[in-house]
This record gives sequence, C-alpha cells and structure tokens, in this order.
Amino acid sequence: MTTPLVEMDGDEMTRIIWRLIKDELILPFVELKTEYYDLGLTERDNTGDRVTEDAANAIRKYGVGVKCATITPNAQRMTEYKLKEMWKSPNATIRGILDGTVFRTPVTLDCIKPVVRTWKKPITIARHAYGDVYKASELRTAEGGTAELVFTGKSGKTERVTVQKLGGPGVLQGMHNIEASIGSFAHSCFKFAIDTRQDLWFSAKDTISKVYDGAFKEIFERVYEDYRSEFSRLGIEYFYTLIDDAVARVVRSEGGFIWALKNYDGDVMSDMVSTAFGSLAMMTSVLVSPDGSYEFEAAHGTVTKHYYRHLKGEKTSTNPVATIFAWSGALRKRGELDGLPELCSFAGRLEEATLDTIRQGVMTGDLALLVEGEKPKSVTTWEFIGAIAEKMK
Ligand code: NAP
Ligand code: MG
Repeated sequence: MTTPLVEMDGDEMTRIIWRLIKDELILPFVELKTEYYDLGLTERDNTGDRVTEDAANAIRKYGVGVKCATITPNAQRMTEYKLKEMWKSPNATIRGILDGTVFRTPVTLDCIKPVVRTWKKPITIARHAYGDVYKASELRTAEGGTAELVFTGKSGKTERVTVQKLGGPGVLQGMHNIEASIGSFAHSCFKFAIDTRQDLWFSAKDTISKVYDGAFKEIFERVYEDYRSEFSRLGIEYFYTLIDDAVARVVRSEGGFIWALKNYDGDVMSDMVSTAFGSLAMMTSVLVSPDGSYEFEAAHGTVTKHYYRHLKGEKTSTNPVATIFAWSGALRKRGELDGLPELCSFAGRLEEATLDTIRQGVMTGDLALLVEGEKPKSVTTWEFIGAIAEKMK
C-alpha cells in the first residue's frame, strides 16, 4: 500500500472481532499501512473526543477510512465508563465534519431469500441526514386562532403566509432544510451511483409539497447536469418519481439500484428494506462526502449483549460479515484510488472466501436461522473466521 488507510477502532464485541479480522484475514495477506485512531470510548473520554475529530480530518486528508462500531454514550454508559461528559455519537461527529451521506447496502446470498421474492440484487438506501422533521419546532394550541409562517431575512425583509385558521385547539409544526445540504446530498448520491455503476432513484412528493419537495427535485436535477455525461458513458440512469410510485416500483423491482430519500422517508424505508433482506448483521454502510471521501463500516452496533457473554468466557457466535465487508470495501477503494489492482483483487477474494464459507454451510447462529437448503452448521465467530482464513490460504 502507498497511502495509509484511516483505521478507527471501536468498542465491545466489534472491537474483539476487529482484532480477529486483522490478525487472521488481512495481515497474513496484505502489507497493511494504516493510520490508527482508537475511537474506543475510554480513549474518546481521555482525549475529550479530540480523537474522533482527528480521525474525521484524516479521512478528509487521505480519502478512505474504515470504522469499527462504537458506543454512543447514554446515562448508563456514563457510570459504566466513568465518563467526564456524555460524548456525541462518533458517527454524527464524523458525518458532520465530512458533510457526508450514508449508503446502506445488504450483503446478499442466494441461500438467504429476501422477503420480497422479486429482489435479486441488493437495494442501497441513501438517506438525507439533515433537517425536516428532525429539526422541527412544534406547538400544540389550547384554543383556536391563526397560524402563520414568518421569515425575516438578513436584509430585514419579511415574508408571511397563513398556515391555517384553526377553529379550535390543534397542533402545528415548522420545519426547514438548507439548499447547500440538499446539494451536498445530491452530489454524494451521484458520485456513489457512478462509483458502483448503478441507477440512482430519487423520490419525494412534489405534487403536494410544490415548494419544499419541489426544491429537492429541482436541486437534484441541477446537480445531475454535472454528472449527466458520465452517467450516459456508463449506461446508468437518474430517475425521479413520486414517493408512493417509488414504493410500488421498488417492491416489484429486481433491485440493483440506489434509492435516495429525504430524511424521514429514508429513516422508515431503510428499516423496511434491511429487514426484508434478512439481517442487520449483513448490512454494510458507506459514508460518502460530496468531495469524494469514503468511510466504510458495518451498520450494526457493538453487540453489547454478546460482549457481556464474551467477558464471562463464552465463545459467542457474533456475525463478522458486515465488518469484513467494511474492510474489503475500504481496501478496494484505496486500491482503486492508488492504482493497486492487487489490493482490489485481494478485497474480492476476501469477500468471495467469506460468502463461500457460508455457501458451504458454515456460518454464525443468526444466519443459520435464515438460510434455506441443507442444514447449516452454526459455529463461533472464531471458528467462522478460521474457516475463511483456511479458504484464503
Ligand atoms: P446492536 O449492537 O446492533 O445489537 C442489537 C442486537 O442485534 C444484538 O443484541 C443481536 O441480537 C443483533 N446483532 C447485531 N449485530 C449482530 C451481529 N454482528 N451478529 C449477530 N447478531 C447481531 O445494537 P444495540 O445493542 O442497540 O447497541 C449496542 C451499542 O452499539 C450501543 O452502545 C450503541 O450506541 C452502539 N451502536 C453503534 C453504532 C455504530 O457505531 N455505527 C450503530 C448502532 C449502535 P441478539 O442479542 O438477539 O443475538
Ligand atoms: Mg429508523
């Protein structure tokens, strides 16, 4: 490797799996060069969370990072880790610094049938992670009256529209978004579509919300002009449709595209799509910034319940597939950017060895419950990774 890969270690069961993957599946085969950041909760607390910011800035500098799942502290973690502060979610900090969009894709296998029978290829969900109802102001009135929307510009100019004349008590909500954020979201989506050579769908409800959703549609169309010629060169399409039409088309589709969604729609649809594909433990996630930096990780958390069993000496059957694919995705991207075809082909071999191990019936307990066909053998994480390592040799 020439450029370092930004490596972000994490917490609990996934921290154990992280070490195993490196020792058994990567270091024996690759001259790995990483810049290591320990995002484990203890180190975040010791550095006043500086380590998270440093890691995010390193991803901006080098362009590719791989991250282990991390604890987002809550009240219980404050006492468990004797924290100085309830630190923010590292993912939120990194996403803020990179201004990125998260793309979630399931790892699919023929022996794990999606609930939707027509789906043959993965569907990737891109959720806009800023604004709308997640940054709304709300109000419940005790009496009737007039609700208005008032905007005071920096210039002092005001604009005013009536929301509704209420005949009695009611509820009100004011929400917003920012053109720059929608533009960044669109850029990340078009970049990721080109990167993965898949069609990009975007859906909203601009027939009803002519101004608000209309702005989303218009900004996507404007940004698309920057990518139109690359799309046609690759033979991929940008497709806008209304959200309800999109839902119907997605269910009838074969999959194999990226579906970009507004914040709330993405929240709902990502849970629907990931559940329909099978298991959270098979979901990978990539954060893509509008200037083209990439951070790869598993979509699941630190699997706390398994970690407590591990601490009691039990060999757990925690599924490492999403974390393995985070590593392979990051190594492939690094290889592409640095012109290292051997690194790219190693990433492919690691993924194939992982999938072949499952195809041959050796897998963790969560998958053994999902696969169809011959009776699968449920093994521990250590045995599963050992079986993949055997295949790699
Ligand atoms: P979780 O770690 O995703 O685990 C929830 C449950 O899902 C597990 O108990 C397990 O079910 C199953 N599961 C998830 N990943 C699995 C895997 N790889 N193999 C097998 N089963 C798996 O979510 P959580 O327990 O709500 O959160 C734990 C910690 O993770 C929290 O501190 C949270 O802040 C953090 N978190 C971090 C991220 C991130 O860094 N991206 C994301 C989400 C949560 P069974 O117990 O039934 O086996
Ligand atoms: Mg959700």
